[in-house]
Amino acid sequence: MKLPDEKFAMPKCLNPASKPSLFCPGCGQSIILKHLGFVIDEMDIKDKVTLGIDIGCSLLAWDYYNFDIIQTHHGRTTPVIVGYKMARDKRIAIAVMGDGGAYAIGLQSLIHAAFRNNPITAIVINNTEYSMTGGQMAPTTLPKEITTSSPAGKDEKLFGGAFYGPELLRQVARSDAYIARASVSNPTMLERILSRAIKSQVEKNNFSFIEILSICPTNWKTNARESFEFLTKMEKIYPIGEMTKSSRAKSRDLWEQKK
Ligand code: SF4
Repeated sequence: MKLPDEKFAMPKCLNPASKPSLFCPGCGQSIILKHLGFVIDEMDIKDKVTLGIDIGCSLLAWDYYNFDIIQTHHGRTTPVIVGYKMARDKRIAIAVMGDGGAYAIGLQSLIHAAFRNNPITAIVINNTEYSMTGGQMAPTTLPKEITTSSPAGKDEKLFGGAFYGPELLRQVARSDAYIARASVSNPTMLERILSRAIKSQVEKNNFSFIEILSICPTNWKTNARESFEFLTKMEKIYPIGEMTKSSRAKSRDLWEQKK
């Protein structure tokens, strides 16, 4: 059977020398980068984009595209890209990082970028663990999930439950900042959200943020079917969609009125 060419199409901004991909077979990160590439092609912004990448598996994107990429370390992608954008304000600055880097080591920088409305697009890949170092527990690890550092399952009493990054940033970001959560299970929605986030930076000069639920078959020790079953479980805990309305509560509403 002849398969349609578009099924195997790759973005024009891709660096062909990056093939074969350094990601493990079945990794969700290559799906994310491929669709980010399609959005960059569609918006015709290849010559304006600079990408920041972090330590961890996200660094394997270091030669993925034919445009400038800055390698940073340990959750520092956000402040590096914020500083870069301050110095080169006509550029389109995108920071890609994993959930460990973004929500543990680099959370302070991420919160303040959202709070200051720095005009960057931050993308966090959530696969519920630290992947490159062997699948250790991260803030995003689900309650009872088994990882190499929680062999009996994540104990919520000791380590907290799920970690809600977009919901947290919504509390401090400006009401018109673009905040969303997508999943590799729905590439059409993923592209739409990536496109809206980048447009928010370009057209409104706003901070924009996307968390993308992704799969890590290597550390999850799952086959293709099991990987997507676990992703479905993640989507029940981490809802996908756009958080268009500000949920920032007025500070006085947070306090019980004592009479
Ligand atoms: S360890 Fe997991 S996240 Fe890293 S490249 Fe392999 S599948 Fe992807």
